[in-house]
Amino acid sequence: MSLDWIEPAERIQTLPTYVFAHLDELKAKERKKGQDLIDLGMGNPDGATPEPVVEAAIAALRNPDNHGYPPFEGTPSFRRAITDWYRRRYGVLLNPETEALPLLGSKEGLAHLAMAYVNPGDFVLVPSPAYPAHFRGPMLAGGKVHSLVLKPENNWLIDLAAIPDTIAQQAKILYFNYPSNPTAATAPREFFQDIVAFARKHEIILVHDLCYAELAFDDYKPTSLLEIPGAKEIGVEFHTLSKTYNMAGWRVGFVVGNSQIIKGLGTLKTNLDYGLFSVLQVAGEAALQLSDKYLQQVQQRYRTRRDFLIQGLAQLGWDVPKTRATMYLWVKCPPGIGSTEFVLDVLQKTGVVFTPGNAFGPGGEGYVRISLIQDCDRLQEVIRRFKQAGICYQSEVMAF
Ligand SMILES: *Cc1c(COP(=O)(O)O)cnc(C)c1O
Repeated sequence: MSLDWIEPAERIQTLPTYVFAHLDELKAKERKKGQDLIDLGMGNPDGATPEPVVEAAIAALRNPDNHGYPPFEGTPSFRRAITDWYRRRYGVLLNPETEALPLLGSKEGLAHLAMAYVNPGDFVLVPSPAYPAHFRGPMLAGGKVHSLVLKPENNWLIDLAAIPDTIAQQAKILYFNYPSNPTAATAPREFFQDIVAFARKHEIILVHDLCYAELAFDDYKPTSLLEIPGAKEIGVEFHTLSKTYNMAGWRVGFVVGNSQIIKGLGTLKTNLDYGLFSVLQVAGEAALQLSDKYLQQVQQRYRTRRDFLIQGLAQLGWDVPKTRATMYLWVKCPPGIGSTEFVLDVLQKTGVVFTPGNAFGPGGEGYVRISLIQDCDRLQEVIRRFKQAGICYQSEVMAF
């Protein structure tokens, strides 16, 4: 029995369903039928958290000093580890007391930032496709999301010149993310300079999600927003330990940059949470201090899978460009088939799970995102099943 007066607030009801939740239902259905699923849907790394991180967490867990409420703003030690990492990695100097804030995973901070700064009706500029928290956070805050539609012919970069002046003048925040989830696109340094100039000119808070700072290949080094002169006056940058360090379940992230912007987010958060469990902050510190050898191993793992799958898809008619970063391939649907339809068809015929591109906004229609979260033997099985089911890129040979 359901009671019709128990209704979620409009801000929940107007949100489109979270696609991953819907996919979970369909996956469960297939599994029930006995299908051996190969799940390349979510961005959930398959490896174990590095041993030194686990050891640091166990030791910290045994210390009762860590069992109480943590300091709201994070432990001094973790905040310093964050700013030290920035100095080492990018040559960027930050004040650990005011310019770094640990988060309960970066998704939490990305969404709450909108709540801290967006009034109902304010415009927020968000690429389409984008990581869902970048537009769902602003929607929950009552903001008006203005989509910046990304196009393959522009290498999935935001076309700043295409943003109408009237919109830019009213915009409160611009979210962006390179290396990008879902498109795997990377942005040149000049693009970062342009977007900083744009945000400064129109007085827009610039939010960069640098989730894939370390998952880059072939000597490519992603740019930090804060490397750009003047960026810290208007911007913040989010990070997560989920991907690089296989710590998705631990929920550790952080934000750095403009102290005023961070302060507003911190104020909101003191009303919602008590900060990150101190044990996790010790673990986060250990992760940020891991040697380059660990990073090289992770990069090698994703690079090998990338090359393997690109080659396999090539045998089926797909021409997928070599990505320089992230743990994803962004792959065109066969001509004449929409993202959702293609994902469902692939799931039913082969038990392989992709994410439909439109889960990341209408700009992702016509594409699917494939996460490189299984080893090559499973990726080989994906290609084998595709061949068997006759799924390929050429429309005329397709079994649809
Ligand atoms: C995975 C991902 C996140 C989420 O990170 P958490 O710290 O696990 O919340 C944020 N942004 C992007 C672009 C991601 O791909």
